[in-house]
Amino acid sequence: MTVVESSARRSRRTRRRPAIGFVSLGCAKALVDSERILTRLRAEGYAIAASYREADLVVVNTCGFLLSARAESFEAIGEALAENGKVVVTGCLGAEAERIREVFPQVLAVTGPHQYDAVVEAIHRHLPPPHAPYLELVPPQGVRLTPRHYAYLKIAEGCDNRCSFCIIPKLRGDLVSRPLPEVLAEAEALIASGTKELIVIAQDTAAYGRDLRYAPVVWRERALTTRLVDLCQELSRLGVWIRLLYLYPYPQLDRIVELMAEGNLLPYLDVPLQHASPRILKAMRRPASMERMLERIRRWRALCPDLAIRSTFIVGFPGETEEDFAQLLAFLEEARLDRVGCFVFEPVEGAAANALPDPVAEEVAEDRRARLMALQERISAEKLRARIGRVESVLIDGHDAQGRLVGRSRFEAPEVDGVVVVETSEQLAPGSMIEVEITAADVHDLFARPIGRA
Ligand code: SF4
Repeated sequence: MTVVESSARRSRRTRRRPAIGFVSLGCAKALVDSERILTRLRAEGYAIAASYREADLVVVNTCGFLLSARAESFEAIGEALAENGKVVVTGCLGAEAERIREVFPQVLAVTGPHQYDAVVEAIHRHLPPPHAPYLELVPPQGVRLTPRHYAYLKIAEGCDNRCSFCIIPKLRGDLVSRPLPEVLAEAEALIASGTKELIVIAQDTAAYGRDLRYAPVVWRERALTTRLVDLCQELSRLGVWIRLLYLYPYPQLDRIVELMAEGNLLPYLDVPLQHASPRILKAMRRPASMERMLERIRRWRALCPDLAIRSTFIVGFPGETEEDFAQLLAFLEEARLDRVGCFVFEPVEGAAANALPDPVAEEVAEDRRARLMALQERISAEKLRARIGRVESVLIDGHDAQGRLVGRSRFEAPEVDGVVVVETSEQLAPGSMIEVEITAADVHDLFARPIGRA
């Protein structure tokens, strides 16, 4: 994705300043890293270029999580070198500096994930900042790559878990939580700039504060601890939608679900479960009792009946038999999750799972993915149909090709879930909130008619 500063006026105004082109790849967490780097560069007086041609130097923030993401990252570096020539590489793939230098000896610098200082230093070396920094004040909420009305709030970096298919802890290190007052101050700045929905993320969001031993802090004269529950309670005072993503299934999630039931958080639980066969979960080094997981899902739904649960799964993990896969399908039938993503296992270089015996053939894994998604599509369609007739608040994201409004209710996260299409010719700006009645549903999306402004 190329960051484009669209206004021609802005490009005229900034043309004498050194300009950085920025290519941001990967997940929401990488996107937040890009925003931080861009914020810092803008604060130092750099302009952000709209194209390779206008850039004096290009930063490529890479993703190295899956093989396909690595290939995309290599392609992006090659393109930036061909189109511009002055390239600094950062992000997850930057942890493999030698490999990048082997393929692209002409890159100016390679820095790893979460190394903001090192990226900026490399840029200073090859493109010094303008003489008078702070020529233009950076907005207090920083530079953002998401639309104005929703924003990702990254509360921690790294992960203490060691799932055998994942190299995130190798790339990004152990859990490091941001201080609670810093997170809350950022949330307030985002809301002051127009954010209507804060999406709280980390590699392992539910572990927030563990590395700081849940340190006591004072915020706005209130005594708090550095815990997800305290953070959520404070965020809920700010009067916008608060959505949590990437919650590892720790026992303390029950308290988070209670906060959802109390209306403090959106009733949306994103718990990546990865599999349901105890044998495979054990090989993945994940919590391995799916019976208990089903019980917990029942308990969560009893605590908060209006709860949307999203999860992701991996099929084709080494050693996965037809019986393991059947257990996963049976779990999905029983759990009736609202939203499901499914990936085929990829032997990412450096992952412990690669040493496991009995790899699953690619066509078998692909077939399992297709079967899982077919089952989930049936469940999803049934669950969405059950919402017909309900009244929901919808946050407008934009409109579709036919001019209809497109938005999301409390039960849909941006970019990963379906949408609510509102059948109206009324034009509302992104970030507007309206009340709708759901009138129809398909496999992923809902259709609705407006009944008033929320
Ligand atoms: S919890 Fe997530 S980030 Fe941490 S090791 Fe497991 S898959 Fe990787």
